[in-house]
Amino acid sequence: MTPERTCIGCRRRDDQSALVRLVRREDLVVDGTTPRLPGRGAYVHRGCLGLAVSRQAVRRAFRAPVTLDPRLEASAPAR
Ligand SMILES: [Zn+2]
Repeated sequence: MTPERTCIGCRRRDDQSALVRLVRREDLVVDGTTPRLPGRGAYVHRGCLGLAVSRQAVRRAFRAPVTLDPRLEASAPAR
């Protein structure tokens, strides 16, 4: 059974495998899915990245004014 996680963008629960694992590296939030990076993680659908950023959900999840890795934003599908 796949564990479920809540997307910080749309707040819906989904299989962990359908979500991107965000991990904080200093002031930068990076993709920590593979290889799985240690540390506090948050989960988001790739398509919900923009939503998570505009809702301040990323900095809330990490309780810090973090910046999203530009490579992550670049990998999000355009709307
Ligand atoms: Zn989502």
